[in-house]
Amino acid sequence: MSDFDYDLFVIGGGSGGVRAARVAAAEGAKVGLAEDDRMGGTCVIRGCVPKKLMVFASSYREAMAEAMEYGWTVHAGGFDWPSFQAKLNSELDRLESVYRNLLDNSGVQTYDARAKIKDPHTVSLSTGEDVTAKHILIATGGHPALPGMDNDHLGITSDDIFHLAELPKRILIVGGGFIACEFACILNGMGVDVTQYYRGAQVLRGFDDEARGLVAEMMAKKGVKLHLGTNIVEMRRQADVDDTASTVTGSDAVMGLSAQDEAAMRHTYSAGKGGPIWVKASNGTTEVFDQVMFATGRNPNTTDLGLENANIDIGRRGEIVVDDYSQTAQPSIYAIGDVTNRVNLTPVAIREGMAFVETVFKGNPTKVDHALIPSAVFTQPELGTVGLTEEEARDQEPVDVYCTSFRPMQQAFIDREDRVLMKLVVSKETDVVLGCHIVAPAAGEMIQLAGIAVKMGATKAQFDQVCAVHPTMSEELVTMKTPMRSA
Ligand code: NDP
Repeated sequence: MSDFDYDLFVIGGGSGGVRAARVAAAEGAKVGLAEDDRMGGTCVIRGCVPKKLMVFASSYREAMAEAMEYGWTVHAGGFDWPSFQAKLNSELDRLESVYRNLLDNSGVQTYDARAKIKDPHTVSLSTGEDVTAKHILIATGGHPALPGMDNDHLGITSDDIFHLAELPKRILIVGGGFIACEFACILNGMGVDVTQYYRGAQVLRGFDDEARGLVAEMMAKKGVKLHLGTNIVEMRRQADVDDTASTVTGSDAVMGLSAQDEAAMRHTYSAGKGGPIWVKASNGTTEVFDQVMFATGRNPNTTDLGLENANIDIGRRGEIVVDDYSQTAQPSIYAIGDVTNRVNLTPVAIREGMAFVETVFKGNPTKVDHALIPSAVFTQPELGTVGLTEEEARDQEPVDVYCTSFRPMQQAFIDREDRVLMKLVVSKETDVVLGCHIVAPAAGEMIQLAGIAVKMGATKAQFDQVCAVHPTMSEELVTMKTPMRSA
């Protein structure tokens, strides 16, 4: 008979926390879980899931334009944000209740409350009660970070974008990471006039140079006004600017719609509640936007968690410091997911949660494997990647680079300028494929499969033994015979 109320108490009901709670409960552990917001966390409520649905919604305008060039008669109506948003909200409600049911059915006791660590085995809940647990798992995730400049509170973040009553006519997106680039493409596709400032020389820092170069080029071709080496130096409310609703015209033409269809697609966009925002940029220009969205990184949720009450170490970015088994400096307390700022991706948090349960509840100490994690940026076109970039690989050892960039059949047929990229970075010494980088529609789907081979340590010769699937874009991955260059 345990001296504690629970064998495990989980703080945070996101993907990682919920998975760990369920799997531990399935092992017979008595589990409690506290969540102070909606069950499901960032991924389900304000991240991957609603974002991906917005990616789908935003892709139809171009698809309709292309359909017309394929011979279809399309009478496009306007994009109705409120109608999409209502559907989106009910889908999120459904998913949240799925998460709650999963926890209930696993026998996990849930608390809709904020939790704070009182001592290494006690959690105080905002409901006023204290609960004790043999093990505590912190899975509180992260939150969008503002850049810390004057008036940055006038801007919105990715948390707010799903709740806008109306789409802005003109938006400035600041940042060049996953979130900035994905939302620049989404909003551009929805007909919003998108300007993006990135302070560095090329967006998507850390990804393969050639791949991110092509993504940036395609984003610009599709209408995103991308300004590199640019940041905001001053921003304030343009109170005297007329904030009445206006219509979008220009960017629809980019997609190749006829004037009639373009007119049919017109719809009203309006400024944010507080009115337009005047921005002065580091390139000397001044512009007025209806919204400014900061996608300038995310910080771990460690504030007011009571970490000092259990001597838990915090790193430079505010993250909880853990070892390879996700254990903190306090032996009874573990942490997983974005709050540890290791690899901030949903499937990684879930794996960290599973490894934690293996280690603590199954007596099988399991380190989390953070090597060769495939990932995708859902820009238009998407970027899928696994393993080393060419730049990382050539710093490590001599490599051969197999690369091809071409117009895909579907778009070449209607004389579109879209290009895709397939790239393999291969060790000269061992022939092992060290990295695979794909820029293409559905690159996220492709890289999941290529990731299996790369994770298995496949060589280029083994890639080449696989027969091509014809005609596809990804067949190039097994048909590139000659290296484009060695590095
Ligand atoms: P990132 O860290 O990827 O990007 C932040 C961006 O903001 C960088 O371009 C950075 O520039 C810039 N930036 C930071 N501070 C400032 C500043 N003060 N002024 C101007 N620019 C600034 O963060 P995101 O918010 O885009 O995403 C967070 C994480 O969420 C990702 O790293 C990823 O792990 C995860 N995510 C994954 C997705 C997916 O799997 N598809 C989708 C969305 C998020 P610089 O490069 O110069 O530092």
